[in-house]
Amino acid sequence: MPSYYYSGIGVLSGIIILVVCIGAAVGLAFIPANIARKKGYSYGGFWALGFFFFLIALIVALCIQDKNVPQYGQYQQPYQQPYQQPYQQPYQQPYQQPYQQPYQQPYQAPNAQPQTVVCPSCGSSAAADSAFCPKCGAKVN
Ligand SMILES: [Zn+2]
Repeated sequence: MPSYYYSGIGVLSGIIILVVCIGAAVGLAFIPANIARKKGYSYGGFWALGFFFFLIALIVALCIQDKNVPQYGQYQQPYQQPYQQPYQQPYQQPYQQPYQQPYQQPYQAPNAQPQTVVCPSCGSSAAADSAFCPKCGAKVN
């Protein structure tokens, strides 16, 4: 048997032991993390602490004050709502209509008297100021 065979087994078993240890650390870290979470502390923080220092994390998690249990004898401030600013609408510019030119009526000449009148008798045009049709002599005004 070549010697690297054994060293290979040694490396493999070392890896397995390492993986098992990490797995155990991961699993064990949940214990202080759960305790800390029940007491109102950071779950992730205690999990990380428990991963590296399981015993320290466990002791700390067991000894720290439970945030959820009210401490008798201690003056408890009444619950204060955090200051809430009144809702402010974002500044809105007043609506500005695009500039519109005032409506301009098309130019209309003052209602001038027509310059000619149509003769009701023959249909020819006659001067407006004339009283009779220049062609047929009928009265146009
Ligand atoms: Zn006429």
